[in-house]
Amino acid sequence: MKILVQKFGGTSVATPESMKRVREKVLSGLAQGCKVVAVLSARAGETNKLLALAEEWSASPDLAETDALVSTGEQVSVSLFAMMLKDAGIRARSLLAWQIPIVTDDDFGNARIRSIDSAILKDCLAEYDVLVVAGFQGRTADGRITTLGRGGSDTSAVALAAVLNSVECEIYTDVDGVYTTDPNICSTARKMDHIAYEEMLEMASMGAKVLHIRSVEFAKKYKVPVRVRSTFSNDPGTLVTQEDSRMEAVLVSGIAYDKDQARVTLRDLPDIPGTAAAVFGPLSEKGILVDMIVQNTSLDGRTDITFTIPRKDLRQTLEIMEDVAPRTGASEVIHDVSVAKVSAIGVGMRNHSGVAARAFSALTQEGINILMISTSEIKITILIQEKYVELAVRILHDAFGLDWDID
Ligand code: ADP
Ligand code: ASP
Ligand code: MG
Repeated sequence: MKILVQKFGGTSVATPESMKRVREKVLSGLAQGCKVVAVLSARAGETNKLLALAEEWSASPDLAETDALVSTGEQVSVSLFAMMLKDAGIRARSLLAWQIPIVTDDDFGNARIRSIDSAILKDCLAEYDVLVVAGFQGRTADGRITTLGRGGSDTSAVALAAVLNSVECEIYTDVDGVYTTDPNICSTARKMDHIAYEEMLEMASMGAKVLHIRSVEFAKKYKVPVRVRSTFSNDPGTLVTQEDSRMEAVLVSGIAYDKDQARVTLRDLPDIPGTAAAVFGPLSEKGILVDMIVQNTSLDGRTDITFTIPRKDLRQTLEIMEDVAPRTGASEVIHDVSVAKVSAIGVGMRNHSGVAARAFSALTQEGINILMISTSEIKITILIQEKYVELAVRILHDAFGLDWDID
């Protein structure tokens, strides 16, 4: 039995008209001789509305109850779509994560998939031609509902594709594929035919929300070919796959940006062993992901430490720093929320030097000040003032020859 997993995002399932497009895509999967597992997101805007509702009704929404609430967005989509398929005479049924089950850990709001039982899915696939599965949700070992983090339906789909040995995992969205940068902010962005898992991982972790980062981790680990394409066109989209020599020939393949950043600085700390551990230990205990870190060179045995975190974690980070600052002897804690990061990514960087210099000089020519820098083997990330982020994306896109008219 050939199985095809297809995932449809919020805009694809938003209205009865767009759902009809989704039905066409499912029919084309069936026409290829496959049984289809269609993984659906909540309708566009629905998850945000449910999260706002929790904030309205509760001073401090319980995390487990928040997951029980927001997971209903996907429940609405799958039941409506299964009805539409049945109207068209297709043997279909909906499945929620707990019915399969998709078992996760108990990190509510950001749960990780631990296992997926394929037995019920396989029984259902023998009886039905299409299974419509709720994305984004899971269930803990003791039966509580969880969610996988914003954008997590991509991860549900790729994990199901891995377990079911799907021929490919198709991720249908509102753009034709993965572009050299966000096509909604850079009109010269080009669609890529292929992108390596590693590049896609960096793009996703640096803010390109077209794929949820954990979906790319799963795809890479289990070698699931992922195709990102549009519900609203017939373009073949972008295949996310193993790296090959064509990809290495390109220095920079894409530019990503992330506005969800805050910067915190501890001033005038003693430069002695144990200081960094005292600062970052309590943050990691609370599960706060620190991204960029810079420690200044020591002056008279004293230094500054600056780091970035997701904006949503700022309040908690500052509370922790209120305790850390006196213990480490820091003179003050300052923060800035008007920062953003831009990244240039490419597996070709491994074999080339001068990428950072080219990026710095392009930004400098436009008068954009560089606040922090970090690099990895295939990526350079620069922190700048948020107001310049869209300009910086376009400048770097041009500086690395990614504009569609250059080639
Ligand atoms: P869905 O609801 O279908 O999951 P998302 O909004 O999560 O869709 O992801 C699609 C969006 O990702 C696009 O509309 C686009 O604005 C954004 N995006 C950011 N970077 C890129 C990129 N490099 N290529 C394509 N889309 C990108
Ligand atoms: N509905 C969820 C969200 O908006 C999951 C998803 O769309 O992938 O984040
Ligand atoms: Mg998404």
